[in-house]
Amino acid sequence: MTLDNLPGRPHVAYKDGELFAEQIPLRELARQYGTPLFVYSEAAVLGALAAYQRGLAGRSAKICYSVKANPALGVIRLLAAAGCDFDIVSGGELERVIAAGVETARIIFSGVGKTRAEICRALEVGIACFNVESESELDVLNALAIASGKSAPVSIRVNPNVDPKTHPYISTGLKSSKFGIAHERALEAYRRAASMSGLRVIGIDCHIGSQITQEAPYMDAMDRMLDLVESIEATGTKIEHIDLGGGLGIDYNGDQPPQADILWSKLLAKLDARGYGDRKIMIEPGRSLVGNAGLCITEVLYLKPGDQKNFCIVDAAMNDLPRPALYQAYHAIVPLRPRADAPTRWEIVGPVCESGDWIGHDRDLSVQSGDLLAVLSAGAYCMSMASNYNSRGRAAEVLVSGSNARLIRERETITDQLRAERLVLDGHP
Ligand SMILES: *Cc1c(COP(=O)(O)O)cnc(C)c1O
Repeated sequence: MTLDNLPGRPHVAYKDGELFAEQIPLRELARQYGTPLFVYSEAAVLGALAAYQRGLAGRSAKICYSVKANPALGVIRLLAAAGCDFDIVSGGELERVIAAGVETARIIFSGVGKTRAEICRALEVGIACFNVESESELDVLNALAIASGKSAPVSIRVNPNVDPKTHPYISTGLKSSKFGIAHERALEAYRRAASMSGLRVIGIDCHIGSQITQEAPYMDAMDRMLDLVESIEATGTKIEHIDLGGGLGIDYNGDQPPQADILWSKLLAKLDARGYGDRKIMIEPGRSLVGNAGLCITEVLYLKPGDQKNFCIVDAAMNDLPRPALYQAYHAIVPLRPRADAPTRWEIVGPVCESGDWIGHDRDLSVQSGDLLAVLSAGAYCMSMASNYNSRGRAAEVLVSGSNARLIRERETITDQLRAERLVLDGHP
């Protein structure tokens, strides 16, 4: 990565020595809303969505945004208006999508541990599909559907066991994973589901992993799924839709994942070649829709040069940007206003009291305290995993469109953090 080859281009770029998101100088947003501050580009989100829409054009297809990547109401609203449906993994996400004004018939529900309360609520509001992940979940869903006088639309999440040796980045589609039903058991699970009076089997789904940067795992997964569709349909159960999940990677550090439109033209060619071109296609992209569309502005608090390492202490931390601490992930970090002097090698770290609280290792930057930095590719799995660790309030979020910037989430206050707590005094009930 160089300063003129930023992940997230062309929506994040320098103009006259200043970093902009679309038409807005990021320094202005930092001044207005404070730091750390998440900034998302509408054009970048819509551009990422358009690639999928091009790839699936002319087909009966649903793009179900995986809400957990970034559950901000403003992001859900934007994607809903652009034609997205939604994939949720909890009752909380269900309420968010409803709160954003989306019809419940545009929601599908994934997740290995749906509670009875979550299932009842989803039955009550009438969602498009339950992506069931175990045989016991089939039993519970069937019983709850019968009890509420409803018929639950069901897809079974199959674990295609795509070979990890050839595709080392895959992690949720392996036999050893907690997700989905093993490929070998899938036929039996479908037979049982078809016999349950509270269920209506409509589809099949898988989700093989995240930050996938090759096309081969998808091609393999599609083949494995079609093999199953063939055997399931031989038992008399029609599979109306095939859901290939999400997982497509983004550019964090020069990564070159396949482009969504090209990937999908190849997957659809395979579908056609195998005689399943008439089936409805569903996908569940998360990171690839929002990841490169977001960044986090942070202020340099202190510089602490040392014998072994030079520390650049910033006001964003692992509670705001958890991916480095969680998965040793890389985010590009660039100055809002590059300085001309020679760079120094820094450890970019946050204020949280953990050695794991780092944002970037060995970054060559010319910085002074008070400078503003942008942590790039921070639109997915950052705010959605943010916490209050060290009693830090969660950051504010801004959605940028052209030269227009709107606050979509206020900075969390200490009042917000203390709201649910009770001060219990000795001698009082
Ligand atoms: C997280 C998740 C996704 C989205 O994954 P990305 O890597 O963000 O595209 C899709 N489907 C399911 C079931 C998930 O759990």
